Amino acid sequence: MRRNSLDDPLNDIEQLHHGAIVAAGNDPDDWLIDAQIRTWELRHGYPLTSGEEVELRRLSLEAASRYERSEYLQFYSLAATYVATMQEMSFDRQDFQPAPFRVATQPGSYIEPWVAWHARTDDDSGQPPPDPIIWVPAGALIIFANVIEVFTGRIVRAFDDLPALIKAVGEQSWAETLAALRAGPRRPAGYVPTRQGRCAVHFPPPIDRRSLLPHVARIDDGIKAAVTTFVIGHEAGHLHLGHFGDRRRFDPFVGGEPIDPGLRRETGSDTVGVCTVWDGMSAHGHGSIDATWIGPVLALATSAGLAAAYPIADQHTTNDTWHDWVYRLSTCVRGLGAWMFGNGFSYARTCAVLGAAVPLAAAVYEYMRTGGELRDATDRLGAPGVEIHAELERAALAQLKRFE
Ligand SMILES: [Zn+2]
Repeated sequence: MRRNSLDDPLNDIEQLHHGAIVAAGNDPDDWLIDAQIRTWELRHGYPLTSGEEVELRRLSLEAASRYERSEYLQFYSLAATYVATMQEMSFDRQDFQPAPFRVATQPGSYIEPWVAWHARTDDDSGQPPPDPIIWVPAGALIIFANVIEVFTGRIVRAFDDLPALIKAVGEQSWAETLAALRAGPRRPAGYVPTRQGRCAVHFPPPIDRRSLLPHVARIDDGIKAAVTTFVIGHEAGHLHLGHFGDRRRFDPFVGGEPIDPGLRRETGSDTVGVCTVWDGMSAHGHGSIDATWIGPVLALATSAGLAAAYPIADQHTTNDTWHDWVYRLSTCVRGLGAWMFGNGFSYARTCAVLGAAVPLAAAVYEYMRTGGELRDATDRLGAPGVEIHAELERAALAQLKRFE
């Protein structure tokens, strides 16, 4: 579908990207893959190998837009592959039909991804709509990258591999994990805009990737892949579950209490997101389920904490969506346990996953809720981390009881 030359007309996503680049006062040519490869070292602080350069050019040819940010290409491509694998693997159980889609970065500070059929609202070509687009907002990518960097820089660094790290997180209290997340120098460095245009979460200065030991950089990439895969798998879940069409489907939802239909759709799609991470990444040998759950848990805990981070004074500009995010986080923890129980995993293995997921989720939530590096912010919307930890622990223990 993609062409190589800009002599070809821009597709709908490229038109939107082009417009946004021009509107920001930048030159679209600087966003083509040649220019992005040329400036890679300047932007990222380390050079590309020739193999990585070849791979980036290949991924750029496959991408939905010639202006896509090169650092996201690999994650989008992998996530789309994992979604296709998940669909094939779950076909007999869930009857998911193939649902082709395109993935593109939405240039803006909005923080929740979504699905749309046209990139431009003024599309009057009369053509049938192309494959739906899963928009991943730049604001979301920046926030997730920041959280993962804090996690990598302050926790992962101390361990040889992800299994060792997960074991250690499971053995310490959630408050100790929170203290480790906050262990850096105390200076608010970043100001992250959100969809409200005001935000209360500060992150430390970016890490120089050259300073990371190779195994830490590898773990960092693995976590980024798991988070991106969950986010894109969740949006693909809305497609597979028929949330947009006339054909309503049963949501593979864990839990019985009556909830708002919109929230039910979100938890159902979260389940598909987790399956994308677990089925998709494992089938390709890109991570064991004992570790990749970290993607969904980090993504949901970050979003819950962020939703809870708005100062009370700003309440009139927000709604208390943190309730919904905490509900999704808790449902995810239950779902991890239910899936492992249902698939015949041992008690010890399930216990190791839930035992690390609960303190990690509570710590990340509280880190975000209290303002990240700001740390002393007290006027928040959401419940304190200690309450969230108790709720998640109840959810996990209920699942572990099933093994008795
Ligand atoms: Zn959703």
